[in-house]
Amino acid sequence: MQSNHNTAWNNCLTRIRDDIGDQGFETWFKPIKPIKLEDKILTIQVPSQFFYEYLEEHYVHLLRNVIDNQLGKDFRLEYSVIVDTGGEAKQPYTISLPNNPTRSSGNGYGAKFEPRKEYSSFELFGYDIKLNPIYSFENFIEGDCNRLARSAGYAVAKRPGVTSFNPLMLYGGVGLGKTHLVQAIGNEIANGPEKKIVHYVSSEKFANQFFDAIKNNRIQEFSSFYLKVDVLIIDDVQFFEGKVKTQEIFFHIFNHLHQSGSQIIMTSDRPPKDLDGLMERLVSRFKWGLTADLQQPDYETRIAIINRKMQSDGISIPDNVIEYLAYSVDTNIRELEGVIISLIANSSLVQKEIDLELAKQTLKSIVHDIDSEVGIDYIQKTVSEFFKVSIDQLKDKTRKKEIVMARQLAMYFSKEYTNLSLKSIGYHFGGRDHSTVIHAVQTVNDQYDTDNNFKKSLDELRKKLKLKAI
Ligand code: ADP
Ligand code: MG
Repeated sequence: MQSNHNTAWNNCLTRIRDDIGDQGFETWFKPIKPIKLEDKILTIQVPSQFFYEYLEEHYVHLLRNVIDNQLGKDFRLEYSVIVDTGGEAKQPYTISLPNNPTRSSGNGYGAKFEPRKEYSSFELFGYDIKLNPIYSFENFIEGDCNRLARSAGYAVAKRPGVTSFNPLMLYGGVGLGKTHLVQAIGNEIANGPEKKIVHYVSSEKFANQFFDAIKNNRIQEFSSFYLKVDVLIIDDVQFFEGKVKTQEIFFHIFNHLHQSGSQIIMTSDRPPKDLDGLMERLVSRFKWGLTADLQQPDYETRIAIINRKMQSDGISIPDNVIEYLAYSVDTNIRELEGVIISLIANSSLVQKEIDLELAKQTLKSIVHDIDSEVGIDYIQKTVSEFFKVSIDQLKDKTRKKEIVMARQLAMYFSKEYTNLSLKSIGYHFGGRDHSTVIHAVQTVNDQYDTDNNFKKSLDELRKKLKLKAI
């Protein structure tokens, strides 16, 4: 048992960070201070009512789990919320909160998500493998980037094990919606009329469970647990690479389930043919059903996602901010969500409405914090200082020779050092279109090969930018 609130909370934080990743962690958990641990109640202080509400809405399930695991099932969490009393010193007040997903209301964790009684081993060997009810088809935005995967997923959700999409294999890079989509399928089936048994598990957890089963001589229990399901969802199968024994047991489970008409759904970060460390006979089975990919979200989808997110948080922001975000974050949806969340948090902390200025600041601090990558603002600043032209001149329509050259170089480096699309880069240079950026990159390349002075400038600039990139 933990006697000290700091140690107790730190242990919880380690688990939370593993679960939600750096950005959510920095935004929502770093500002929390543990206050006391008494009578099996851990009290934590949060900076505002908004924080408290956000945590309750988005992380109640995680918090409950972590408290259960780190402290014990009879422990509770209480929040102490700092309130702004208008000028005077802020006096925290404490809210006593059940923090029990199965009891609290209005957050989607109704009684139907309690482990089914006849299936007491939902937490097989202590690993929680429940579906997360926040993922649904309803809140999965459809776009060109995910249309096939979504409609195949929907067909499977309506008729699991019956369509020819068995197994259903979805693949794509990080943060593109694989987990969301397969969990949406799982939730749709689990809440459907037939009361099917659905299991969602990451391949990593599956491998750990299997490892524990071997260690404790409980392989029989492990297998029969998995052989009973109607729908098995295995997330991120690339983690099976190189794990021969785990692949073998999975192969066995796969065959059995497939033969008995159970539905199998898998995700991977790459197409089956590129899963090098997997047994050939396993990979060939992955191809029996349907394989569909999730691609990077296009501009329209990004706009729709931002709008939806804002709507669901009850926040409205100006169109120019939505556009700015959609142009600036085009890598994946998780990152886009992270930026939106930080923006909301920032606006609540500094008590300012969300506007373009705040969006720019937020984005800058995030890009800087996450991986100290060279961002487009930094490139523009460095280039403008180097050539003694203003940043505004880089963005405006001036056709003066030195300015055009500086502008083209800045575009060239933006293409090289950031993940932004050509369209986004153009946007950040006074709303130019993508062909202008292509032209800039070509011109720079040509001139680099033919003009020694130009080559020198470029190399020197690159050195300056690289200093920052390290
Ligand atoms: P992956 O498993 O591919 O790494 P996730 O499914 O975890 O990605 O998605 C990352 C985040 O983006 C999640 O919060 C998810 O809800 C959200 N997301 C992904 N795709 C969509 C979509 N099409 N519509 C709405 N939200 C999405
Ligand atoms: Mg995932």
